Amino acid sequence: MDEIRTRLSRRGALGLGAGIAGLAVAPAAAEAATRATAPGASVDVVVVGAGFAGLTAARRLRAAGHSVVVVEADDRVGGRTKPGKIAGEVVDLGGQWVGPSQTHLLALAKELGVATYPQYATGLNIVDIAGHSARYEGEVPALEPAALSDFAQTVGKIDTLAAKIPFPRSWDFAGAADLDSQTVETWILANATTPGGRSAMRVLTRALLSAEPSQVSMLAFAAYAASAGGFSALIATRGGAQDALFDGGVWQIAAKMAAALGPAVVLNAPVSAIAQDGSGVTVSAGARKWLGRYAVVTAPPALASRITYTPAMSAMRDGLTQRMPLGCVIKAHIAYARPFWREQGLTGLVLSDRTEFGPWFDHSPRNGPGGSLVGFFDGGPAQRWADRPAAQRRAQVLKDIALYLGEAALSPVDYVEEVWTRAPLHRGGYVSVPGPGVLTNFGPALFEPVGRIHWAGTETAKAWSGYIDGAVRSGEQAAEEVGRLL
Ligand SMILES: Cc1cc2nc3c(=O)[nH]c(=O)nc-3n(C[C@H](O)[C@H](O)[C@H](O)COP(=O)(O)OP(=O)(O)OC[C@H]3O[C@@H](n4cnc5c(N)ncnc54)[C@H](O)[C@@H]3O)c2cc1C
Repeated sequence: MDEIRTRLSRRGALGLGAGIAGLAVAPAAAEAATRATAPGASVDVVVVGAGFAGLTAARRLRAAGHSVVVVEADDRVGGRTKPGKIAGEVVDLGGQWVGPSQTHLLALAKELGVATYPQYATGLNIVDIAGHSARYEGEVPALEPAALSDFAQTVGKIDTLAAKIPFPRSWDFAGAADLDSQTVETWILANATTPGGRSAMRVLTRALLSAEPSQVSMLAFAAYAASAGGFSALIATRGGAQDALFDGGVWQIAAKMAAALGPAVVLNAPVSAIAQDGSGVTVSAGARKWLGRYAVVTAPPALASRITYTPAMSAMRDGLTQRMPLGCVIKAHIAYARPFWREQGLTGLVLSDRTEFGPWFDHSPRNGPGGSLVGFFDGGPAQRWADRPAAQRRAQVLKDIALYLGEAALSPVDYVEEVWTRAPLHRGGYVSVPGPGVLTNFGPALFEPVGRIHWAGTETAKAWSGYIDGAVRSGEQAAEEVGRLL
C-alpha cells in the first residue's frame, strides 16, 4: 500500500487551482483526475458516499489543494435527496425544504445559482387531533383549548431542555442519563396531560423523525430540537424548517457539486471494506480499490456498519452503528389539474391523527394552472405500508386527502412516490434515530475518528442534524478536520 501511495503525487492534479466555486472541469484536468481516481490510484482522501455531506467534504478538500475521490454505492449522487417527475415537473423525492437559519445550505445554493421560493402558506391549515377538527391560520395548531394549553406547556418544556443541551454533545447535559432512559412516548405520558396534547406530540414526533415516539430516546428528541435552535423552528413553515423550496429541486445542488468534481466521483461502487495501517487506508468496492491517506465515511451509521473494517472497528463505534436505525418514511407527490384547495381558502396543510398518510403540504408548480400536494407516511404507517402494493398505497393516500380536502382529491392527474424504507442503499430516512441509552453510552463515537477514518453525514452535524443543511455542515467539519492532518 505504502509503495503505491508514495509513487503517486500527494496532491491530485485536480486539487491544484480548482477553486471552491469552480464548476467546469477542464479536459486536461479531467483526464488527470480520471487517472488519479481510477481504482488502484492514490489520493489524499477517499470519501465514501456522494450525498450532500460527501460532496461538500470533497469539494472543500479539493479547494484546499488536496486530492480526493468520492466512492458512491448508488448509480446517482444526492443520497437522501433525489429528483423525480410528476405531471412534467421535476420534484424532490427526498429532502426538499430549507429554513432561514439553515445558512450553510443557503450559502451553497447561492454560490451554485439555485434559487429558493417560499412554501405556499396563504389561507387556513386544517388540524384534526383527538376528535377535535378546526381550521386555523399560522403555525400553532388550533387544538381544543385544554389540549392547546397542554401542548404549549409541553413544547415549552422541550424548548427549556433544548436550551440547556450542549449540542452536539447532548450526553454532557446534567440531566442526560435521566432523559436518555425515557422514550419520547414515556416522556409524553409523564408531561402532557390531555388526549389532544399527547396526540399532537405523537403526530409531530412522527412527522419530524419518521419514527414512533416509543422508538426514540427523549434525550435524542430534545437534542434534535437543540440542534435546530428550538422545537418551533422544527415544526414551523414561515421562519422554520419548511420555510422555502428550491426552484427546480434541491437535488440540483448535489448534481452541480458532482459535476465540478468530475471523474473524482465514482458511481456504482458500494464500498465493502476499508483497511488501514499507520500510513494510509485502502477502500475497496469489491475488487476495485482506492488508496488514500485518510478516509471520510459519510454513510449513515446503519449503512457504515455494513462495511468490513480492518483492523476491526472500535467497540464504541461498532456499538453505536448497531444501535442507530434510520427512520421509516415513504414520500408521495400527488398532482391535480388545479390546486382546488386554494379555492376553498386552504393552504393544503393538514395535521391529523386519523389518517395513515400525512402531514401533507401544497407543492403546486409556480407556473401554470396545475396543483400538487406532497406528504408522507412516517414511522408506524410507513412500516405498515412499505410492503404493500403501490396501488393500495396510492388509494390510501387519496382517501386520506379526500377526508379533508374533498372528493376532488380522488381524481389526480399524476402520482409519484419513493419508498425510502425499502431502498436497499438508503434503508429509510429522514435521519438515524437513537433509542434510549444510545447517546449516553455511545454518543462520542458519532464524531471521534477511528485511526485514519473520519466520520461525516447529517447525523454528525453540529447544527441542523438530520437536515440537508446539517449534511453540508458535517462535510465542512470533516474537510477541516482531515485538512488539518494533511
Ligand atoms: C423523504 C425525505 C424527506 C426529507 N426532507 C427533508 C427536507 O425537506 N429538508 C431537509 O433539510 N432534509 C430533509 N431530509 C433529510 C435529508 O435529505 C438528509 O439529512 C440529507 O440528505 C443527508 O445527507 P448525507 O450526505 O448526510 O447522507 P446521505 O444523503 O444518506 O448520503 C450518504 C451516501 O452514502 C452512500 N453510501 C452508503 N453506504 C455506502 C457504501 N458502503 N459505499 C459507498 N457509498 C455508500 C449512499 O448511497 C448515499 O448516497 C429528508 C429525507 C428524506 C428521506
